[in-house]
Amino acid sequence: MDFNHWAFEFHGHLCPFMPIGNRMGELALRELGIKRDPDHSIFIYSEMGVGHPQTCMMDGLQVATGATYGKLMIERLNWGKVAAIIYHPGKGAVRIAVKNEFQTMLSKYEFFEYRKRGIEPSQIPEDVSRKVVQRVFDASDEEMFKLTRLPDFKYSRVKGSFAKEICDVCGEFVFERYMRIKDGQTVCMQCSGYEQNPGS
Ligand SMILES: [Zn+2]
Ligand SMILES: [Zn+2]
Repeated sequence: MDFNHWAFEFHGHLCPFMPIGNRMGELALRELGIKRDPDHSIFIYSEMGVGHPQTCMMDGLQVATGATYGKLMIERLNWGKVAAIIYHPGKGAVRIAVKNEFQTMLSKYEFFEYRKRGIEPSQIPEDVSRKVVQRVFDASDEEMFKLTRLPDFKYSRVKGSFAKEICDVCGEFVFERYMRIKDGQTVCMQCSGYEQNPGS
């Protein structure tokens, strides 16, 4: 990839972890002998969590593989690691992690001094951002990634359904697996009183 790749426009700013994710996705496709998928055959389990700033990597992974969040082809495992499992039923699974040495080397770039001061990537001088992104472009896969084959990896997904009903309280459509019965009424999750912490 280069600075003109549409992934930067999609992602929104110049940063090193989006292109790292893109490279990670491309490496996984080569290893598994598959191409970027427009539909539903590539599954990604990102080991990232919340509250650490490398998660831009997941946008690069989605761009490279077509395994997008909207299609529910990428999930976060919340393990707090800069790694992901890329899986294609029939072709197998690989786990790719960004090497400690590479993360340490990258963290010394000026870009991260700005980030640690709370400056958003789009506000960092472009030449500073370009330097660290160029370093990613110049790195070899061997320098950046640790790759492990996962021969026994298996995962089966929830079966999709279009069936939906109307919540007796708020009147909005809700898909059937999320319907609840409360006091004899058919209700959605919100109207059932269930509380979900969006940060977890
Ligand atoms: Zn980013
Ligand atoms: Zn409702």
